[in-house]
Amino acid sequence: MALLTVGSIALDSIETPFDKTDNALGGSATYIALAASYFTAPVEVVGVVGEDFATEHIEMLEKHNIGLDGMQVIKNGKTFRWGGKYHFDLNTRDTLFTELGVFENFNPIIPEKHQKSDFLILGNIGPDLQLKVLEQMEKPKFTVCDTMNLWIDLMKDKLIEVLKQVDVLIINDSETRQLTSEPNLIKSAQMIQKMGPKYLIIKKGEHGALLFGENQIFSAPAYPMTDIYDPTGAGDSFAGGFTGYLHRERDLSFESLKRAVIYGSTMASFCVEKFSTKGLEDLSTLEVKARYNEFKELSRFE
Ligand code: AMP
Repeated sequence: MALLTVGSIALDSIETPFDKTDNALGGSATYIALAASYFTAPVEVVGVVGEDFATEHIEMLEKHNIGLDGMQVIKNGKTFRWGGKYHFDLNTRDTLFTELGVFENFNPIIPEKHQKSDFLILGNIGPDLQLKVLEQMEKPKFTVCDTMNLWIDLMKDKLIEVLKQVDVLIINDSETRQLTSEPNLIKSAQMIQKMGPKYLIIKKGEHGALLFGENQIFSAPAYPMTDIYDPTGAGDSFAGGFTGYLHRERDLSFESLKRAVIYGSTMASFCVEKFSTKGLEDLSTLEVKARYNEFKELSRFE
């Protein structure tokens, strides 16, 4: 059965201290699907684009065995556009603009054959839309959810409804504190787990990630990167690598989730090495495995 993801498909305009690009392929579902495609198939995407979405993007995604039956193409519509500018340290960014286009009226319709998908990744879209997706699914075995500060600000109640129905929430450290109003990250994580998710992953940017299970915590290292070019999509690539690995292995034990966190970090590290989705387009499974092994060495000690 498929791994299904629902999220944004976008054209991004990105500025970093080193370079600038306009209308490059982006979006949460795009990064998630590409990262997951290195582990498993089929990966199915539900999203929306306008008629301006280039055929070359569709061909590139199809080359990675990504199913696009659920991608709505709206006649005369414009694809969602997002502009972001990174500060000098690449850890913080400002949103320069958001042009919703066809995303404004996006109604995620899950094709009937994908309603039975047993793994679901709710990419970063409004929690109202995430709820609509959950309503259409036939009890997935494993649901992973991403979100962002915007939705904690605007739709916290709806987000809390979503959390009751997911197995894993992936969130960053500042969003964790924002969601619970609790400054201590460990206490904050426990509060979120009480809201529903059995597991919580807190991303700490260049300082790694924490996985919280039932009375267990795993601290994953960060890869010492010397060539961070464009951090866009790192969180989504993490979610795709994490869930793609679990979908392939069919093992949902805590030990397996720990390995999945390292595979998520591996895909995020490839993502940020190039602009837009380029860092995820031409990898080999050998390269992925080699970097996973480097991660293992980083924190091995007796
Ligand atoms: P990340 O860097 O992992 O937070 O994800 C970046 C991607 O999220 C970009 O490719 C954007 O197109 C997309 N994005 C930005 N804002 C939104 C939003 N409000 N809803 C959905 N996707 C968004």
